[in-house]
Amino acid sequence: MVALARFFLTLRKPLLCPRMLRRFTSTSSLVLLGMLALAGCETYGPVGVGEFSTIIVDPGHGGHDFGGRAMFGRNEKDLALDTAQRLKANLDRRGFRVIITRNADYFITLGQRVDVSNGTPGCIFVSIHYNWDRGRSGHGVETYYYMPRAVRLAANVDHALAAAYGTRDRGVKHRGFYVLRKNRRPAILVECGFVSNRSDNAIAQSASGRQRIADAIALGIVAERKGQRP
Ligand SMILES: [Zn+2]
Repeated sequence: MVALARFFLTLRKPLLCPRMLRRFTSTSSLVLLGMLALAGCETYGPVGVGEFSTIIVDPGHGGHDFGGRAMFGRNEKDLALDTAQRLKANLDRRGFRVIITRNADYFITLGQRVDVSNGTPGCIFVSIHYNWDRGRSGHGVETYYYMPRAVRLAANVDHALAAAYGTRDRGVKHRGFYVLRKNRRPAILVECGFVSNRSDNAIAQSASGRQRIADAIALGIVAERKGQRP
């Protein structure tokens, strides 16, 4: 079915040019155009197991939005950006096409982040965050998803991250965060540890710690690309 849709997709452009359209006025051509319209929907349809070629890396927060205030050192927005840039570099080296939603310390809306994803066929969306809570005891990593077809991606990333981090695995969770709920692509939001917790924050504040986190997320994405089960 996907192969068929792809076939029609390749035909779609030339057939829709006005000169060609004038030639196709019979009933059969209307049926064909209907099929083409359906095939066009495939562009925005599901990305199947391991089918993605592009990864949208989305560093949370930015600009006036600091995110979680770290108990010491840099705040969430800076840690998320740095981790996302390290993740992008890793995935670039592996030959993936990678788009980062912000590449410096400025504010972008949640809608803008989702627009990048929804406007990119064949991608997955990975939002990078650090966690925060009022107390200092909360620690560990967790990964959120919304649509069911993102659950294995979430699990692959979460397991790889928890293994490399050496902190508590809080698991994979279903939640309707805006960037997940409004996303038409398989989308996850990774919480890479608590900046409000002394030991998690110590890892997050070190360049080597963030490199380890980024490399682990990349491993999870590669596992998903290969169709592996976590
Ligand atoms: Zn956040």
